Amino acid sequence: MTETFTTGNAPAEKVSFFDDPATGLRAIIVIHSTALGPAAGGCRFWSYAQKDDAVADALRLAEGMTYKNALAGLPFGGGKAVIMRPEGEFDREALFKAFGRAVDSLSGNYITAEDVGTHVSDMQAVRSVTRHVAGLPSDGSHAGGDPSPWTALGVFLSLRHAVERRLGGKLAGRTVAVQGVGNVGMELCRLLHQDGAQLVVADGSAERAAKAAHLYGAVVVAPDELLSADVDVVAPCALGAVLNERSIESLKAKVVCGAANNQLAVPEDGRRLAARGILYAPDYLVNAGGIINVVAEKMGEASAAVDERVRRIPERLAAVLDAAEASGEGPNFVADAMARAIVAEARPQARRVA
Ligand code: NAD
Repeated sequence: MTETFTTGNAPAEKVSFFDDPATGLRAIIVIHSTALGPAAGGCRFWSYAQKDDAVADALRLAEGMTYKNALAGLPFGGGKAVIMRPEGEFDREALFKAFGRAVDSLSGNYITAEDVGTHVSDMQAVRSVTRHVAGLPSDGSHAGGDPSPWTALGVFLSLRHAVERRLGGKLAGRTVAVQGVGNVGMELCRLLHQDGAQLVVADGSAERAAKAAHLYGAVVVAPDELLSADVDVVAPCALGAVLNERSIESLKAKVVCGAANNQLAVPEDGRRLAARGILYAPDYLVNAGGIINVVAEKMGEASAAVDERVRRIPERLAAVLDAAEASGEGPNFVADAMARAIVAEARPQARRVA
């Protein structure tokens, strides 16, 4: 493991780089804020063209986690890890153990879990070298396991609220386009299908899209056609920055509500959506179910507590949308302001990272 440094200008409290040639690990861990408690956020395992892209992703994701945890009322700050996927063959277990040692070196100031590209088995490898990890299998006596179903539940309940608010009436008969049917998107499809919604899906993996068609009667479209599909709702559940000036122009949906982190390419896109009369449900507010489960696992709480907290996400969405309507501001700006106020209030007691 090498180099650890704290940024001078970036808003993050600490940015650490880890290189372990023996396993091929190249990772960045960003602790954005510990004002509310230890920084909690998942670990992304992805192919990046260059290190700068991975750093930019980690910084953006970590800041989002600070706001997500604050708005969800969790006693945790925000952080995120990004592992650059090695080219060629590698020993996955050894790589995640090396990552676990990196997490351990931060002395509990960062707690990791699953994100895009990582699975429960990876977190088990991490757990073999550090206790600062969640998303591990549960024996049923307390919360734990894959956080994705909880994320999907929070998104589903929020989407239902957003449809009632913007379009009136229930979900049954409404059309929803789900971009990405991975861990969260597939479960979201199940819940939407159960509630009578008609589905349109796209996924980079034809196999996954076909599974959604088979299980939930979804119509499959090409990934580049998904956002402009003639539907009531678009649910981005793949990667970030999919809503930009051009894609927003092409949207036919009146509601955007999905699980993907950092859906807006730039904050101004929130105003662009509002100007087109499209209700945007802020991503980190509605996708907090997973981190709510992760935190409950760390605190040894029961799954019933997770269920209760996740079911309250639509209340917070309603408060943000009410304030957005009253002020004429984009819901993303309102959510950011609310989250920053919560963090600022806690700042006097903030623990500094050693
Ligand atoms: P995942 O890797 O299981 O699924 C992502 C899916 O998107 C994959 O099937 C992939 O093939 C597909 N995909 C990638 N690019 C695509 C494109 N351009 N068009 C269509 N499909 C595409 O990841 P996940 O855990 O389901 O997470 C999905 C999103 O939700 C991510 O942005 C993640 O950060 C966010 N999120 C996840 C959780 C969680 O609990 N897993 C919590 C909060 C936020």
